[in-house]
Amino acid sequence: MRDQFNREIDYMRISITDRCNLRCKYCMPEEGIQKVPMSRILTYEEIIRICEAAVSLGINKFKITGGEPLVRRGCVSFCKELREMSGVQQVTMTTNGQQLEELLDGLADAGIDGINISLDSLKDDRYKVITGGGDLRKTLIGIEAAVSKGIKTKINCLIQKGFNEDEVTDFAKMAFDLGIDVRFIEIMPIGYGRPDNGLSNEILLQRLKDDYPRLTLDSAPRGNGPARYYSIPGRKGSIGLISAMNNSFCGSCNRIRLTSQGTIKPCLCYEDSLDLRPALESGSIEALQRVLSDAVLSKPAGHAFENRDCVERRSMVEIGG
Ligand code: SAM
Ligand code: SF4
Repeated sequence: MRDQFNREIDYMRISITDRCNLRCKYCMPEEGIQKVPMSRILTYEEIIRICEAAVSLGINKFKITGGEPLVRRGCVSFCKELREMSGVQQVTMTTNGQQLEELLDGLADAGIDGINISLDSLKDDRYKVITGGGDLRKTLIGIEAAVSKGIKTKINCLIQKGFNEDEVTDFAKMAFDLGIDVRFIEIMPIGYGRPDNGLSNEILLQRLKDDYPRLTLDSAPRGNGPARYYSIPGRKGSIGLISAMNNSFCGSCNRIRLTSQGTIKPCLCYEDSLDLRPALESGSIEALQRVLSDAVLSKPAGHAFENRDCVERRSMVEIGG
């Protein structure tokens, strides 16, 4: 369905958990966040009902996220059930990749259409620091396994000044060596993210062009996201820039977000959300459709990350990145 700015909203990000096996510095405090009891987290059956209502409104592409989606038991079977739902065109996932190798066959069997893997460093020690103890080797094995299985694989990378800015070229090389998309995302002032620590994509692009002079803006359509892609003629793989802070991408926004506790966020930036619980409890698909269409119709024209007073105060794990 279209929102009041005539944008087609056909994509929903679903956070299935607020728990995570890592503690990325910009996302979660070391001690974690207060655990929400499972009784307040949507069951898979409830999420499926919400998705049925969403599909009836023309929302047919879904991204499974969290927290870390793969830590929730039953995630793979849930993906399969969603992928098999009539009218669903795409189910993809965003993961830190720590458990990807062991769950990959199941995800492939579930018909997953793509996997985005978050990876901020290719150096063991830095990866451990930024993720609060993660094992780089596991994520790299997961990436290689996904690529060799032929699953559409993308890397999401946050570059921070003085931390991993010297790895931009290594990530670009990874994109071209493996023939995959590596997307650089600007840090947003959500959760523990401090945009001042981030490197703007404008500077990053200039550095990439110094290393790869043949890098060219590539307008071939791909994915659902707001990334602007650059590639090298004749080579597989590309670099995506998601300029969350410096180049508002809201004009082409196509999404709403379902939180693990059953609220719908019309926009990532603002705290506003609509509660789906009463509609779920009523058992009526029409009630779910009403809340979802209200969410679509209340989407704002754009974000206001520069105005800290109105920015979402919950962390990314709570709202789904
Ligand atoms: N655990 C999964 C993962 O890391 O891919 C999925 C959830 S995570 C919240 C989704 C994405 O949000 C990750 O790529 C992460 O880097 C990104 N993220 C978290 N906090 C952010 C922030 N403040 N600004 C920009 N991206 C952020
Ligand atoms: Fe966990 Fe993903 Fe947040 Fe890192 S970015 S702490 S992996 S939810």
